[in-house]
Amino acid sequence: MRIRHSIVNKPWVTLNQIHSNKIVRVSDTVNSDTVLTEGDALISNNLKCAIAVFAADCGNVGIVTDNGLIAAVHCGWRGLENKILQNTVKELLSMGASDIYAIVGPNIRKECYEFGEEDLKRLVSIYGNQAKATTTKKTPSLDINYCIESILESLNVKIAFKNNHCTKCSDEYFSFRKDKTSKRQALVLYFG
Ligand SMILES: [Zn+2]
Repeated sequence: MRIRHSIVNKPWVTLNQIHSNKIVRVSDTVNSDTVLTEGDALISNNLKCAIAVFAADCGNVGIVTDNGLIAAVHCGWRGLENKILQNTVKELLSMGASDIYAIVGPNIRKECYEFGEEDLKRLVSIYGNQAKATTTKKTPSLDINYCIESILESLNVKIAFKNNHCTKCSDEYFSFRKDKTSKRQALVLYFG
């Protein structure tokens, strides 16, 4: 927690991430470091706390709305299959958001993301052929960024910033595929 608070000096609200489609609302009463429950997206209007998701190759997306909501989404291939990002944006819309902006964090890129054919078929059935790519080793891969960007575009979410680095082949990021690390990137959002 000391390291976390040196990055953002507010209580950190997080989840036990399970690659699900489950969204969790942060209530106004939370005011200390808290692991809320299982789930993969947080929605908050709590001014006191930061919200964070963690990933080391999976995608992570931060969202800000015009009606004072923030969201943090953990969105790897299972999350893409479970439609966690679509669910989160739809939930924000149902809560009255109209202008929605996204920040796309770093993840493993298609050039490096070797991916099983059977799993890839299911992702292609949802996101189309452009979800399917090829690594530099000529093996099948999943284009997580194509999937994320097509979801955001289809729901009229503007991308305010995207990190184009590959977690696996950049030295600056943690990558489970690179070295089985237990360390993670944090995507943190809070009200300033
Ligand atoms: Zn790479």
